[in-house]
Amino acid sequence: MIHAIKGTRDILPPSSTTWNRVEAVARRIFANYNYQEIRTPIFEETALFARGVGEETDIVSKEMYTWEDRDGTSLTLRPENTASVIRAYIEHRMDQIPGPKKLYYMGPMFRRERPQKGRYRQFFQIGSEVIGSESPATDAEVIEMVVAILTGCGVKDIHLIINSVGCKECRPGFNAALKEQLQSIKQHLCENCQRRAETNPLRVLDCKVPADQPYVEKLPSILDHLCQNCTNHFATVRQFLDDRQIGYEVRPRLVRGLDYYTRTTFEIVHGALGAQSSVMGGGRYDGLAESLGSKISSPGIGFSIGEDRLVMILEETGAAEPVSLDLYIAPMGDAALRHAGILARDLRLQQVSVEVGEGKLKRLMELANKANAKHTLILGDNEITAGTYALKNMTSGEQRSMTRSELVDHLTAKN
Ligand SMILES: [Zn+2]
Ligand SMILES: [Zn+2]
Repeated sequence: MIHAIKGTRDILPPSSTTWNRVEAVARRIFANYNYQEIRTPIFEETALFARGVGEETDIVSKEMYTWEDRDGTSLTLRPENTASVIRAYIEHRMDQIPGPKKLYYMGPMFRRERPQKGRYRQFFQIGSEVIGSESPATDAEVIEMVVAILTGCGVKDIHLIINSVGCKECRPGFNAALKEQLQSIKQHLCENCQRRAETNPLRVLDCKVPADQPYVEKLPSILDHLCQNCTNHFATVRQFLDDRQIGYEVRPRLVRGLDYYTRTTFEIVHGALGAQSSVMGGGRYDGLAESLGSKISSPGIGFSIGEDRLVMILEETGAAEPVSLDLYIAPMGDAALRHAGILARDLRLQQVSVEVGEGKLKRLMELANKANAKHTLILGDNEITAGTYALKNMTSGEQRSMTRSELVDHLTAKN
């Protein structure tokens, strides 16, 4: 017997309903903020991610699914979508269209991570990118929108963390200060940090190894090294968030896992998942488009929500709505089955969800309960001849006799 590959899974009903609902909420909110969808291929040339995500990141150095195509090209399953969106933006000359481009995406990403609770090798992200604006107003709007999506889906207790990681003017100075301090303490740090102390000192701040924390906490803060422009930018983002009464914590260690971030970075964590409970992460990436070949400056900002974890939170906190059916029809006999088929077709055309059962009454009532039917209708020869229906409300237990048109009105009014 063949099983799904380790780290992948089937999303089955009723969970798939929660997935659909989350995606519908996100699409509606994206539309409210004037975003449009972009769909990029699931695989790209490996060089795109090596350049766009950064060679030194865990993603590129050890987690990508990479293979050589028949013509020798190195291809990779997308481990994230920002690099692909920027590639598409440059390739289709979207920089020529006036105004910032506001794009969203949803779909599977692939990383060969160690499987653990809430982490999969094929996982799903809902994300967005705004390209062509460096305004702090954009940052605040993006953060406001992602909070709206998560709360709109039913997530409670969200905790927003923000930071600024500086720009190409001020980060080298911070990196140098960090590197210098790391020289004296790096023998106490984990193997990864010892390597990063040389190659990418900023990433040491990201280390989750408990034994490293007392040392990492004493490292310099990036907020003390921001240039004037970055300081002003961050202060304005904060002011705009304050204006909207969006609560946040400033955490100077929030540098995020990807190399391309500049200035604003942000993350939302949720309590139900423990310490490493990030459900969404994002940030500004002002130089990314240029590093991928854009001739003109295209500053941008984006985020991605981990949809697997979002759905898990909704299911664990009881915020996942149960699937329900408007009407379950139990036809008794052949004539009733024919009649039920036509009635069901007419109701479905009016957006009423209907199931028609077949078999013994007792079993059909069990199935109606399983389906969480709001109403049931037992249909026999008497009802057909008289033209009246006995509709039972499954919540109240009340049964009412009604004509066909009363039945249609009653069921469509409920929707
Ligand atoms: Zn700066
Ligand atoms: Zn470490």
